[in-house]
Amino acid sequence: MLKDLEKPIEYLKGVGEKRAECYEKLGVKTVYDLLCHYPRSYIDYTSPVPIADAPTNEPCIVKGRVVKKLPEARIRKGLSVYKVIFTDDVTDLVIVIYNSEYMYKQLEVDKEYYLCGRITGNLVRKEINSPVILSADTEDKVQPVYHLTEGLSQQMLRKTVRLALNVFNKNIYEPLPKSIMQRYNFCSLEYALENIHFPKDMHTCELAKNRLVFDELLVLQLGMQLMKSRSREKSGFVLKTQDMDSFYNALPFILTNSQQTAIEDCIRDMQKEQPMNRLVQGDVGSGKTAVAAGAAYFVYENGCQSALMAPTEILAEQHYETLKGFLEPLGVKVALLTGSMTAKQKKLVKEGLENGEYAVAVGTHALVQQTTKFKKLALVITDEQHRFGVGQRAALASKGENPHKLVMSATPIPRTLALMIYGDLDISVLKELPKGRQPVETYAVTGKLRERAFNYVKKYLDEGRQGYIVCPMIDESDMDLQDVKTYAKKLSQGTFKDYTVGLLHGRMSGAQKEQVMNDFKEHKIDLLVSTTVVEVGVDVPNAAIMVIENADRFGLSQLHQLRGRVGRGKYKSSCILITDNVNEESVKRLKILGKTNDGFKISEEDLKLRGPGDFFGSRQHGLPALKIADMSQDMDILRKAQEAAQLIRNADPKLERTENMYLRELVDKLFDKTMSDN
Ligand code: ADP
Ligand code: MG
Repeated sequence: MLKDLEKPIEYLKGVGEKRAECYEKLGVKTVYDLLCHYPRSYIDYTSPVPIADAPTNEPCIVKGRVVKKLPEARIRKGLSVYKVIFTDDVTDLVIVIYNSEYMYKQLEVDKEYYLCGRITGNLVRKEINSPVILSADTEDKVQPVYHLTEGLSQQMLRKTVRLALNVFNKNIYEPLPKSIMQRYNFCSLEYALENIHFPKDMHTCELAKNRLVFDELLVLQLGMQLMKSRSREKSGFVLKTQDMDSFYNALPFILTNSQQTAIEDCIRDMQKEQPMNRLVQGDVGSGKTAVAAGAAYFVYENGCQSALMAPTEILAEQHYETLKGFLEPLGVKVALLTGSMTAKQKKLVKEGLENGEYAVAVGTHALVQQTTKFKKLALVITDEQHRFGVGQRAALASKGENPHKLVMSATPIPRTLALMIYGDLDISVLKELPKGRQPVETYAVTGKLRERAFNYVKKYLDEGRQGYIVCPMIDESDMDLQDVKTYAKKLSQGTFKDYTVGLLHGRMSGAQKEQVMNDFKEHKIDLLVSTTVVEVGVDVPNAAIMVIENADRFGLSQLHQLRGRVGRGKYKSSCILITDNVNEESVKRLKILGKTNDGFKISEEDLKLRGPGDFFGSRQHGLPALKIADMSQDMDILRKAQEAAQLIRNADPKLERTENMYLRELVDKLFDKTMSDN
């Protein structure tokens, strides 16, 4: 990157230490960062509306001239009102300015201005209060509006961005190779930066945006590919065919066709020169763990180790139990490694992994910590991968000598996005659920029916089943936690006083959670009140009823995940979604869950109804946060970026050529940041 652009923001005139701190709150530290602090919207003065047509009480822009300035009116001490008669020669409008003599003085009779604000009043008398006023002869007819923080104003930001652009213009550089720019007909970076901040009109703004979105997605795509190719370079473990019959025979059930195929896919991949890089996608309950077990058994038979990483302790523990059940009868030793184990326990497990005593390790982040060494780690499995950061994935992948990788995900995502998030992963889809699974009957009701819902729960409990009541806890904060605790207490002393009620939430220690989950598994608890920590994969076949409070606060996909906790055994199961939000949209949304059990369909609906925000929030998929691109909106550009990344890397696989120098820098910058964020 060019030196001046890397300078701290204080390099720009008007930015001192204090302001620099304000900028830092916006994530802006350098001149370059400021250039990438793109406007969140624009005020477009190029197409004003006639005053007569302007909507009332909605922001709009009108153009006209000052007819007359009325004298100052002092309402009381410290409050002055200035009124100015304004017209577009068809309709008059009164500009009302409170206290700003400065603004008032600037207005000149007979001169033309644009006004931006909300018009109030009626047909006879229209007013606009403290509008943004712009002289009609100004060049910049589209004005950027930035995200601000205390201590900064739009005016200030516009000025400072201008200065930053000047710095750029003295150091013009162009990260895109010529061939790519020509192929897709993109404008230069110089043009793009100028016009994203100070566009002549909305069309130039669009051109600028397309270019910048492309750059961002291209850099992201290149980064993902480089990370991947780094792991593809070396040969990995080339494993040999094994007799898998003993594994299949020991299973307590017959695999579904998709499970069988997925295991065979893995076995085939792991015999190749290049490491496996496969995604197993399957709805909740489709039996992904058995696929993982199959792959791990194959690795074991080859004399190597596998590691399975889960996003939470509970899930790690559950996987541990499941894998142990599948594998230990076959003589495969499985170890658990989580953050909440004692130092001594961890040490023992780590020793066992290092000397090869354990063939399979299951754990959370603790697994990726540097002190964990494996004797011969040939397979890394991650569950619900979208919850991990890219950095964590890379860290685990660097453990062995380039191990095979298997990713399990219950979140159905469109293929293009899967490609972006997972590089060029191969994908196995578990299409069917194991036989005999009954769909979870799902009902959406309002809070008025809460008591009836609870009675329904009692019916299940009286038949010997168990149930969940899930409460959303948005950020697992203290206040929310208090709510959940109070709620659980109320239930256990009231409606459900004849039953054992347990409580599970994310703030409990791993050991506490485990205790509660175990109690629930062993049916020492009838009804488990829980936050969404139960979402990820806890398996209690006797649980057959779930109530979800404030269901409208969840995404459909998440609700679908949650209800996957019931209907895991032979019992008919139900899920009741309670919402006090009776607005039609939200009820309609919840009803979708009553109609289908297909996770892919549900996530599509989710996307349509709620937009991409939550679904593809960068927290979920572990990608670096995007500044301007929106992966579900900018699909076309995303495809172009994927194609371009391929073209660039075909000619220059490691981005070593001079023409790709800047791209390389941007990739390193983005991914360094990502790694350190995780
Ligand atoms: P998920 O894909 O949601 O992770 P799991 O791997 O937890 O699903 O499997 C859900 C349940 O189904 C487990 O109790 C598991 O033992 C069981 N199961 C998996 N495969 C089969 C099968 N082919 N037939 C019957 N039950 C199965
Ligand atoms: Mg699972």
